[in-house]
Amino acid sequence: MSHIIVVGCGRLGAELAYSLFQQKKQVVVIDENDNAFNNLHADFLGRRVHGDALNQEVLERAGIKQAQGLAAVTNSDPQNAVVAYLAQNFYHVPRVISRSYNPQLRKIHEIFGLQLISSTSWGAQRIEEILLQTDLRMIFSAGNGEVEIYEFIIPDNLNGKMLEVLFAGASCNPVALTRFGKAIIPDNKTILQTGDLIQVSATLDGARILRQKLQGHEV
Ligand code: AMP
Repeated sequence: MSHIIVVGCGRLGAELAYSLFQQKKQVVVIDENDNAFNNLHADFLGRRVHGDALNQEVLERAGIKQAQGLAAVTNSDPQNAVVAYLAQNFYHVPRVISRSYNPQLRKIHEIFGLQLISSTSWGAQRIEEILLQTDLRMIFSAGNGEVEIYEFIIPDNLNGKMLEVLFAGASCNPVALTRFGKAIIPDNKTILQTGDLIQVSATLDGARILRQKLQGHEV
């Protein structure tokens, strides 16, 4: 059965490997530093390959010839680009993703024609969105905009209130609630806390009522 290779078992690689493993994928993790495997969750049962991923013998030991996917997530953008390039163009791994840390080095990935995820730019953008968020922000529009998904932060005036208080009279449904970085699907009885990040689906009318409640009206 084919497997997914995660190159670099640091903070991102270890989390990615465990998450794939939890989804019942066969995972092989490569790292040149043996201690890095300590980052893996204790339950992780995937294979660990010790070695420098720039060495083709190491990639082949990890089974790159049969791999269905490879994520190059070491802490070096040029190394990630080289490993991903090899995987994509020499070993023809069907799905290859490379991590880019340094936005100024993104060009390398573009020149190599690689699919990249810039964890730094993505993180910076998301932090900025939440820091500057003032009101309901529309993040997805369905149909012709009849129903949209909005994101907002619970203000002080809703602290300790049940979600149903916020939704009363507004045509909307909860999608997710994130508290301290962990998301759940809330229900009507969920008690809100200042700073909770909420996504809801709502009609335009529902969004108008929600906006009023967030501003402190009718609660
Ligand atoms: P982090 O910055 O926490 O995501 O960790 C990056 C990981 O990539 C570290 O555990 C490094 O040992 C690993 N790493 C860096 N270069 C290589 C390489 N050429 N081959 C294998 N692993 C590497």
